[in-house]
Amino acid sequence: MKGTIPGYRTEIALRKTILLGKDEVTIQGRADGLHPDGSYDEIKSTYRPGSLVRKLESDPHHPYWLQLACYRWMSAESHDATEEIPDRLIVVDARSLECETLDARHWTPDDFESWLVKRLEAIIKREGERRAFVKRQKKLAGLLAFPFTEVRSGQQGFMDEINATCRAKGRLLGQAPTGIGKSLGSLFPALKYAMEGGTKVAFLTPKNSQFTVAENAAQQLAKSVPLRSITLVAKAKLCLNDEVNCTPESCPYAKGHYDKVADSGLLRKLSRRAVLTPQSIKAIAKKHQVCPYTLSMQLIPRRDVLISDYNHAFSPESNLRAKMAGADLEAPRPVVLVDEAHNLPDRARDHWSGSLKVADAEGTRWHRALAKILSTGATTHPDPDKLNRIATKMLDAILDESAGPVEKTRERANLDLELFFAVRRFTALLSASIERDHFFLRNPQPGMWEVHCLDAAAYIAEKFEDFSSIIAFSATLKPLDFYRNELGLTRPADKAIEWASPFDAVNQKTILIPQVSTLWREREQNYGKIASAIQRIVAMKTGHYMAFFPSFAFLDQMAARLSPGDIEILTQVPGQSLRDTAAMLERFREPLPGKTLLMLAVQGGTFAEGIDLPGDQLIGAFIVGPGLPAVTPVREKMREYFEKKYGAGFDYAYTYPAMAKSVQAAGRVIRNGDDRGIVVLMDRRFSDVSSMASLPAHWIDHIHEARPGESLAGHINDFWT
Ligand code: SF4
Repeated sequence: MKGTIPGYRTEIALRKTILLGKDEVTIQGRADGLHPDGSYDEIKSTYRPGSLVRKLESDPHHPYWLQLACYRWMSAESHDATEEIPDRLIVVDARSLECETLDARHWTPDDFESWLVKRLEAIIKREGERRAFVKRQKKLAGLLAFPFTEVRSGQQGFMDEINATCRAKGRLLGQAPTGIGKSLGSLFPALKYAMEGGTKVAFLTPKNSQFTVAENAAQQLAKSVPLRSITLVAKAKLCLNDEVNCTPESCPYAKGHYDKVADSGLLRKLSRRAVLTPQSIKAIAKKHQVCPYTLSMQLIPRRDVLISDYNHAFSPESNLRAKMAGADLEAPRPVVLVDEAHNLPDRARDHWSGSLKVADAEGTRWHRALAKILSTGATTHPDPDKLNRIATKMLDAILDESAGPVEKTRERANLDLELFFAVRRFTALLSASIERDHFFLRNPQPGMWEVHCLDAAAYIAEKFEDFSSIIAFSATLKPLDFYRNELGLTRPADKAIEWASPFDAVNQKTILIPQVSTLWREREQNYGKIASAIQRIVAMKTGHYMAFFPSFAFLDQMAARLSPGDIEILTQVPGQSLRDTAAMLERFREPLPGKTLLMLAVQGGTFAEGIDLPGDQLIGAFIVGPGLPAVTPVREKMREYFEKKYGAGFDYAYTYPAMAKSVQAAGRVIRNGDDRGIVVLMDRRFSDVSSMASLPAHWIDHIHEARPGESLAGHINDFWT
């Protein structure tokens, strides 16, 4: 236009200052073009011009109209107020460069000023709240106190290291045994540091079932100061409807959510609640007829502690830092505590892996096009650019149809959307995987492709950048170097520490029986030996025992060979419901004087992690074989990859992950200082150097390895008497 209209100017800088109470606010911007008659052009380029034009025509509050209205308001003083000046929005098709011009007609300068003043007042209010939040935190930091008069053995050293790490903005990997008081011991120093600096703490766990320990720790700390914690779960888990459909037309809780929250003063009222759990948020939201998920999002920036699943921090699309900061773009980075950190490498690998198959497009119009791309030969991977083009077309169609008059069935619209997200996610993974050896791309069947992330350390490290200090801890982080590498905590200044157990090591009798083998090819000959050893050992002392096997198939073989006699046997089954699991645990916890109870379960399963069975609830555990991951093409690729990278392929791909499960399962036995119990490791592979390197130090000093022909009865009886 510059060349065709005499006097036409481009890139016009505009600026205006207004007074709001005692605050002076300056607004500035740059208009794309100015005509000699004083009218402005704003040019917007898009790949979906039809969709944008429809939105602009139906929404007078669209940000582009507000932008033009702002230019007019900023230059209003230079014109006669009665004069109509035809500002224009020019929508350019980014592909064809064709233009459509829309005349601005929605806003007068006075209307815009009223709107603007309201917005600015809200922003100023929010900034005031933010400053008050930081001031409050700094004040509370001095008052925050450890809630007990005595610190547990080993806990002070643990807290001191965390305190030092936070102050150095450092990164710490900590093998911290049961009983050290990890949750409270990590949250207390981290929160104190965070509050002093006007920031927050994210406490992340691998499973929702582990939130309670963090919530309890927050509740304990709330005795000294009115701190605020919130636990975040996925939208589907918080939703008050049977199906998540968040439009105001479909969901009564979405309709008028923000007005209802503002009118009821809910955010202010909830600032007096120390611990907000998903259950309490759901109940509050239901009472006020608002959406619990949106309410959670509004609350997070106002809380000192956020408890959540790893997903919210480590999935590719997650942005926990932004959620915690809210509108505060200057917010300092929070501190992150990663509980049960031995789970994070696999979880992150899962986040960076995915698959797409032609069948995913069944029932949609994209079926043929996807089949063409995905049915490439086994040696030629699908072209990410072609998939990207399909995703773009899908998005165009979805947006056009949602903005247009065509009424689609809900079911079809959902299918299209689901497929769009699946294609987009897979395309991103596919593009990331090309020519990167930490990915493995495979075509397990015609029309299906899988991308497997073999090593997610770089992605975890990237996500860690969102936090000022990183504290990753667990009772199962050995060998420390393996987890340092897996978690990307490999800077020279990163610390890795193993703390001693606070319990007397003699309270756990660890027996290694290398005379049995659980190797696949030798299992058949060993089933009987293993069953009879278990049976003999549990007969020596009445009580509750657990036997952990490498798989359900192995467990079934044992269940068939163990004779109940005087003992009651409880058996975990594949895909057991939550209700059955809880019932089984309840039965197991029941004191049954004079009766022996034996639970058969799998390593890595529900009963092997995060279950607390103190005192007589569990007096012995049999760990039958290190449950090595199955040999699959993906596992074998991992082995090759880690062999090349660290010269320890088998250990990284098989031994260490298996040993983490074995140690976790055995860790159910000693839960506090008064507990006594036996741990029986059954398989010669437990005596390998790599397996031994995975054991906590306090086990190694007291382990008894059975010699050929040796009777263990004396050792075990001595321990019990
Ligand atoms: S708005 Fe909230 S309550 Fe309504 S469907 Fe969405 S998540 Fe569920």
